[in-house]
Amino acid sequence: MTFDADLKGAQAQLSDWLDAAHCAVAFTGAGISTECGIPDFRSPGGLWTQNKPIPFDVFLAMKSARNEAWKRKFVLESAFAGARPGRGHVALARLLEQGKLGGVITQNIDGLHQASGVGEADLIELHGNGTYATCLDCGTRYELGWVKARFDTSGGIAPDCPHCGGPIKAATISFGQAMPETEMRRADALTRQSDLFIVLGSSLVVFPAAQFPLQAKDNGARLVIVNREPTDFDHLADLVVHADIGDVLAPFARNA
Ligand SMILES: [Zn+2]
Repeated sequence: MTFDADLKGAQAQLSDWLDAAHCAVAFTGAGISTECGIPDFRSPGGLWTQNKPIPFDVFLAMKSARNEAWKRKFVLESAFAGARPGRGHVALARLLEQGKLGGVITQNIDGLHQASGVGEADLIELHGNGTYATCLDCGTRYELGWVKARFDTSGGIAPDCPHCGGPIKAATISFGQAMPETEMRRADALTRQSDLFIVLGSSLVVFPAAQFPLQAKDNGARLVIVNREPTDFDHLADLVVHADIGDVLAPFARNA
């Protein structure tokens, strides 16, 4: 049954299904972080409507594109520096602690699931992580502060890897960049196990990430979609809630 549930009814239904599930999986998108002060880049007026994203091949080919990418990145960093986990993040961390959730698959790159206490074993980041950087050639990790110090002292030149000379990029997946194999495999395996799949704040327009809810439904899992706006897959869901993620998950974030 697909319906626009009222908030209390939806929370009760979700609670019952979480208790009954053998493997509940949360799939999160930008909507879980909006109450944390991190805007959805794709929303009207969002950053991506003002600045076209730099495709991966251009980043690789042009030093000027790397300089521009890091310039934008540090502007974002200063805007999001104070972001803290919201009620949705806290609720998921608690559900994991309670053994009611089998894992979290996220499209987000903001690191707020980790900040709420979710460990690496329980978290799959499909689009990488924007809170650090890596060398694209040798894989060495660099902290953003390390990059910024060099960027600032050179007058806005993106540093290359001191070990191998390779380009250093925020550890996110850009447009045109291959999806991370390990994470895609882990997400696939977790989705196959899932009998309750809960989409939280994803508009389900970015593929291949958005394939996982469809795959779960195909496998016979219950599908729940919580999003402010309707999605193209609402008609497939067993429960649809058009509301704020924090409001919907608030009861799950409280101490039992
Ligand atoms: Zn390197």
